[in-house]
Amino acid sequence: MAVRVVIAGGSFGGLTTAYELRRHLGPDQATITVIAKDRRFTFVPSLPWVAMGRRSLEQISFDLAGPLAAKRVVFVHDTVTGVDTERRLVATDQGEHRYDFLVVATGHRSANEAVEGLGPFDGPGHSPMSAPEATELRLAVRALLEAPGPVVVGAAPGASCIGPAYELAFELDHLLRRRKLRHQVPITFLTPEPFLGHMGMGGAGKIRQLLEGELEERDIAYATSTAVTKITPETVEVAGASPVPSVLSIIIPPLAGIEAVANSAGLANPKGFLPVDAHYRHQVADAVYGVGVAVAMAPVAETPVPVNFPKTGHMTEQMAQIAARDIAARIAGRNREAAAELSARCVLDMGDRGAYMAVDPVRPPRNAIPTVVEGRRWLLAKRVFERTYLWHARHGRHIPSTLGW
Ligand SMILES: Cc1cc2nc3c(=O)[nH]c(=O)nc-3n(C[C@H](O)[C@H](O)[C@H](O)COP(=O)(O)OP(=O)(O)OC[C@H]3O[C@@H](n4cnc5c(N)ncnc54)[C@H](O)[C@@H]3O)c2cc1C
Repeated sequence: MAVRVVIAGGSFGGLTTAYELRRHLGPDQATITVIAKDRRFTFVPSLPWVAMGRRSLEQISFDLAGPLAAKRVVFVHDTVTGVDTERRLVATDQGEHRYDFLVVATGHRSANEAVEGLGPFDGPGHSPMSAPEATELRLAVRALLEAPGPVVVGAAPGASCIGPAYELAFELDHLLRRRKLRHQVPITFLTPEPFLGHMGMGGAGKIRQLLEGELEERDIAYATSTAVTKITPETVEVAGASPVPSVLSIIIPPLAGIEAVANSAGLANPKGFLPVDAHYRHQVADAVYGVGVAVAMAPVAETPVPVNFPKTGHMTEQMAQIAARDIAARIAGRNREAAAELSARCVLDMGDRGAYMAVDPVRPPRNAIPTVVEGRRWLLAKRVFERTYLWHARHGRHIPSTLGW
């Protein structure tokens, strides 16, 4: 009888796991079921472009059902409500799914409660962490163009996904310059990082110097080791300093695991993230794996204001491949491969240019000196990568991870 593999989540982690598993295991060896609360795959790294009005959600997403069916993967459009690891059962809004192996790839919940006023739907602050939030931010950016005023962009204490904050500051600066409105909009960048470009991974080569130069060149004021405490419609309050005036406050929140995972007995740590080993297998529940933002990863070091370890799309794909190969090896009775360390590649949109960063491994100390280069061609590379990724994902294929993100 075929082994039952259930994958919760249909984004970078879930889709990559499904495709990679199917590459190793035929339908006679494994039934693979993907359960996702969103019917569509969304290329999340392009959400800042949605917020800036440069992409529609339609352009950066596709329906999961067709591509998964083509790979003989069952797609269930449903919401997971809990996991019973003893009975190997996933509960959903509409029923139950038994599994022999479960991969949790359900991403994050924005822990907006960490900062009073952090929104957008529960406060005046904005963040682009999901499709609805990016769409809401798009309206707020339009309103700013109508009625210019001071802007704050940044990240809250404990944030881990800080790259998009830089992108939004640069993109906003670029948009306002093009509209000849920049002189009416002071922009302040507030970050919990101990230095610019720390990004939760202890920095990457010369990215700190590059970002300092780029923000200064563009008249974007910045403050590091900053703890944002409250967002009001007119200000952003920070610990130990005067409030910063702001009519548009874009703050990346700290992340937590989704409630269904956090509330399932024995599955998650207090933040709702899965404790996993080097193969992304749960440290206690032997049949459960976790990949992507759903897994627990310790910060690289203690910092004056907490900054958490980043879990990028590129890293999520690597985790999914390692987990899928491990499951396939266990099902086929093969020897398990040694798990590789995670590396990271990323292109940061700086409005009129892009900066490419590559670190290997993500956690310092590193074998290779990180690559940090910038120029207009990297912005083009980011656009091409988005299109290429979406095409491949829609056709059940992997993007070689040597390409930049
Ligand atoms: C604005 C922004 C910009 C970014 N830019 C970059 C970048 O340039 N490069 C990069 O490498 N990374 C980037 N990232 C990070 C990257 O997007 C994440 O690492 C990636 O999305 C993580 O994938 P995931 O599969 O773990 O989770 P997610 O992408 O969060 O997907 C979660 C999946 O789980 C499903 N789900 C959630 N709850 C349930 C439930 N209860 N039941 C069923 N299904 C559920 C959702 O429908 C979804 O399919 C960015 C992130 C953001 C927010």
